[in-house]
Amino acid sequence: MDKIIMKTPLVEMDGDEMTRIIWKMIKDILLLPYIDLKTEYYDLGLEYRNETNDQVTIDSAEATKKYGVAVKCATITPNAARMTEYNLKEMWKSPNGTIRALLDGTVFRSPILVKGITPYIPTWTKPICIARHAYGDVYKNTEMIVEKGSKAELCVTNADGTQSRELIFDFDKSDGIIQGMHNLDSSISSFARACFNYALDQKLDLWFATKDTISKKYDHTFKDIFAEIFENEYKEKFDKAGIEYFYTLIDDAVARVIRSDGGYIWACKNYDGDVMSDMIATAFGSLAMMTSVLVSPEGIYEYEAAHGTVQRHYYKHLKGEETSTNSVATLFAWTGALRKRGELDDTPQLCEFADKLEQATIDTIESGVMTGDLYLLSTLENKTKVNTEDFLKAVNERLKELL
Ligand code: NAP
Ligand code: MG
Repeated sequence: MDKIIMKTPLVEMDGDEMTRIIWKMIKDILLLPYIDLKTEYYDLGLEYRNETNDQVTIDSAEATKKYGVAVKCATITPNAARMTEYNLKEMWKSPNGTIRALLDGTVFRSPILVKGITPYIPTWTKPICIARHAYGDVYKNTEMIVEKGSKAELCVTNADGTQSRELIFDFDKSDGIIQGMHNLDSSISSFARACFNYALDQKLDLWFATKDTISKKYDHTFKDIFAEIFENEYKEKFDKAGIEYFYTLIDDAVARVIRSDGGYIWACKNYDGDVMSDMIATAFGSLAMMTSVLVSPEGIYEYEAAHGTVQRHYYKHLKGEETSTNSVATLFAWTGALRKRGELDDTPQLCEFADKLEQATIDTIESGVMTGDLYLLSTLENKTKVNTEDFLKAVNERLKELL
């Protein structure tokens, strides 16, 4: 078989620890033998980020804007322990945060479903994809402890110097607490467009929910911005694609999600997304089977696994011990990026290859060959636990049959 030719490069962001080891294995075993792989490579491993004062992260985000598609390996977000471990000049920020800010993107997370691993809610037969608005609200809040006898007010100084005031509460009978938070119309609009675009891309219904009946200005603004952008820019496209935009109250949404069989995108405000994404990930079984894609309002895509660098397994690997780390989410980051590259460049062979590689991966697990994390969860009768590399080799055997 001739290698598949790529017309345009995709941006490759290498990373840290166990996922860096897996990254190379995926390329060597499953990609390079079949594709004339064109990537613009950026090393986001912590050592090189430190060497370049994190410039490499910014450069990789700029390259993503240029080429439109990126695939990213999990990376370390430094904390105090990492400062010593890697002898860092500074506690560099989370690369994901930096890239998300530069692309103004929204993160979509979806579980990969396989037979033998039943969600805790067994009626969830299709994935539920969560989109979290990653700006503002309680994550950028200002809080105060208020003493009895105080009066708390909201005060805005307008551009012309005049002030608008609203009473929050008169603390005449007790001590208490207050909180101020904000969001931006521009950020909410970007979030809405990223969600509508991704729903069209995936041909999935889009759900959105807030508490607009109680929060008549704050949450209602989210509802209104979504409704206006949908009417003006997306309604016709949704009709043509045969998909729906559905708005409801957050408590109604939660009840419907539980009763549903999945198969939609659920757009969440920042806090709802934080909480619900952990619930959805756990309910579907394994963080190692969760994919993640950052989508910008202009339709730029960055694919990655939702999990981290799997540090505990890496230390075992360094000691020469065998590991059984799940590579599926990282592998699906690659297939997602290759398929998107194929779509944008009109290279159907690349899309077909991505489809077959995903199929081979799922077939391998459903045939009973899996890594340790899935072995513990799977209800299949005949199952075998394999090590990190042998799993990828087993996928390759299946892939050869499909190609
Ligand atoms: P983690 O890497 O997601 O791993 C937490 C635990 O989950 C692992 O110890 C392992 O459990 C299990 N696990 C996760 N992925 C797995 C996989 N592919 N196969 C098998 N088991 C898997 O989270 P962490 O240990 O809290 O964080 C490690 C580093 O990752 C941190 O430096 C953090 O900053 C970084 N991080 C990066 C990203 C990102 O780049 N997107 C996201 C999150 C965290 P067992 O140990 O029980 O086997
Ligand atoms: Mg959370």
